[in-house]
Amino acid sequence: MNKFRKWQCRRTAEAMVEVLRQKCYDAHYAEDLDEALKMVLAMIPEGSSVAVGGSETLSAMGLVDILRHGNYRFFDRYQDRPFEEIVEIYRQSLLADFLVTGTNALTRQGELVNVDSSGNRVAGMIFGPRRVIVVAGANKVVDDLAGAFKRLKQIAPMNALRNGHQTPCVETGVCMDCQIPARVCNAIGIINHGMKFAGRISVIMVAEEVGF
Ligand code: SF4
Repeated sequence: MNKFRKWQCRRTAEAMVEVLRQKCYDAHYAEDLDEALKMVLAMIPEGSSVAVGGSETLSAMGLVDILRHGNYRFFDRYQDRPFEEIVEIYRQSLLADFLVTGTNALTRQGELVNVDSSGNRVAGMIFGPRRVIVVAGANKVVDDLAGAFKRLKQIAPMNALRNGHQTPCVETGVCMDCQIPARVCNAIGIINHGMKFAGRISVIMVAEEVGF
């Protein structure tokens, strides 16, 4: 990464850690994805049940393979099984010890904003799993909720493409506000702060541009 962009990522990540701690999240700074991965694994005791949200950031970390082959009870949503069976894994994941996920956007006021196709990730981030670990690159930070909603629309076509959905945005590269069953933008979750269950949500701010 360009050294000036890296400098900006560092400042953004550092500032967000301060904001997030004030909002009762368990916030940490990571210099890069390798450090973030070590932090995630240090937070999860062996033997824990673990679910993951669909995330390009987690893919880049190689976390799924580690959870699959490690001493964890992993709710593996990436198996080649009928969708009805994957939905059952989503349901069981809501009672996991840990949910690890990225985030689509993070405002400078400490709001986590996400859009889901099935809603399993936004549901679990809000309530269910005992602990939530969010890994967020500095590129996910936006000024406010308006910026977050704009970001959701910008990245959704890439997520549709990544997940093999047949949506018009996959053809055009921009949101066409489709009204079809294949639509991936079905549920939006906003977490305003971490005060209700202080420390339940950990956020690892990575001083890099990672994920969409
Ligand atoms: S609403 Fe439809 S067209 Fe717009 S980004 Fe979502 S899936 Fe694509």
